[in-house]
Amino acid sequence: MNESKATSAGLYIHIPFCTRKCAYCDFFSVTDLSLINAFVDAVICEMELLRDSPLAFDTIYLGGGTPSVVPPGHISRLIKGAVGHFDFGDDVEITIEVNPGTADRQSMLDYRQAGVNRINIGVQSFSNTALRFLSRIHTADEAAAAITHARRAGFLNLGLDLIYGLPGQSPDDWQKDLEHAVGFSPEHLSCYTLTYEKGTPLGKMKADGQVEPLDDDAVADLFKVMQNVLSRHGYEQYEIANFAKMPAKAETADQGTSFRSRHNQKYWTPAPYIGLGPSAHSFVEPERRWNVADLHTYLARLEEGVLPIEASEILTQEQRLTETLYLKLRTREGIDIPRLEHIFGLDFEERYGNVIKDFIQEDLLAIDDQRCFLTPRGMRFLDGIVEMLLNQRTELQKVKR
Ligand code: SF4
Repeated sequence: MNESKATSAGLYIHIPFCTRKCAYCDFFSVTDLSLINAFVDAVICEMELLRDSPLAFDTIYLGGGTPSVVPPGHISRLIKGAVGHFDFGDDVEITIEVNPGTADRQSMLDYRQAGVNRINIGVQSFSNTALRFLSRIHTADEAAAAITHARRAGFLNLGLDLIYGLPGQSPDDWQKDLEHAVGFSPEHLSCYTLTYEKGTPLGKMKADGQVEPLDDDAVADLFKVMQNVLSRHGYEQYEIANFAKMPAKAETADQGTSFRSRHNQKYWTPAPYIGLGPSAHSFVEPERRWNVADLHTYLARLEEGVLPIEASEILTQEQRLTETLYLKLRTREGIDIPRLEHIFGLDFEERYGNVIKDFIQEDLLAIDDQRCFLTPRGMRFLDGIVEMLLNQRTELQKVKR
């Protein structure tokens, strides 16, 4: 590795294929798998065009879409291509997202062989009723089988994704799902609230009144259940939706960082990251850019030897401040006050003191060791708190329950 480069950037590869679209999903993917070979060739071309990047990387994240619908030989080719075109150190976190029903034990062994050292399985729920509602292609048994295959293939760093906040879901239902997941001792859990995105079948069902979403209070109750269950089982909530198991001998929270997703933390730091594949986003301060969200255009551009960028923007100082507050408050460490003051040339106490004082009294925010962070209770109200910080308002009833 070139010693003059800081090793902190992440490389994301968006695999835009799925066996079937889930009702709630607005990620870019197609169900026609016939272009997989062409896609892999195109990603290697994209790497070639970006090979002079001044960044040094320490993560590769194969996400999607459903990376596990791509034959493992292609996954290996993508990883080799990444390592061959960009600057990596010895210690690289390589994650693949896998959906139950699309990867067997042999694929898991092949991923290990290709250098993947972290696996994230899109379980979403252990309730078949919930899986059907979400129109997932797998069953709860297939989810359990995928976890077993991964463990037998030697994955020691395994994460599970879950979704909560489904219509009618009770705190008991959610607790059962969480206990079921924890029973497999995953090193990592990502728990996302169901959202009703415009343009998705579920979004349409909501607009047509065919489903009744849970109200905010009910979702907040589920959030609390999640915090209680996962903390009882030794998981650290290091970001609003992400929980990492503390290593067995950890005595302090700082020692518990090893099962955090190194790659995902780059989005909240924010550290530089490069995204390859259609719709993938890149961020290298102060520029953000994103690729075209269309597979044919993506392939055609790379065929011509042109980067498939849809657009880019340079963030203003105000936009960067807003994003920093929002992203940092998502994390357990929160805002590093002296650093924020240095970067943005502001006096934290002068600018936010009044609002923060009230939040601290309400046990929504805390300040310790020059850091300002959300309390477990405050994490339930991130959006409202950030909005009020930005507007420097103190109408607490907007965030209190
Ligand atoms: S498998 Fe994932 S990416 Fe594919 S449609 Fe379902 S939620 Fe979206």
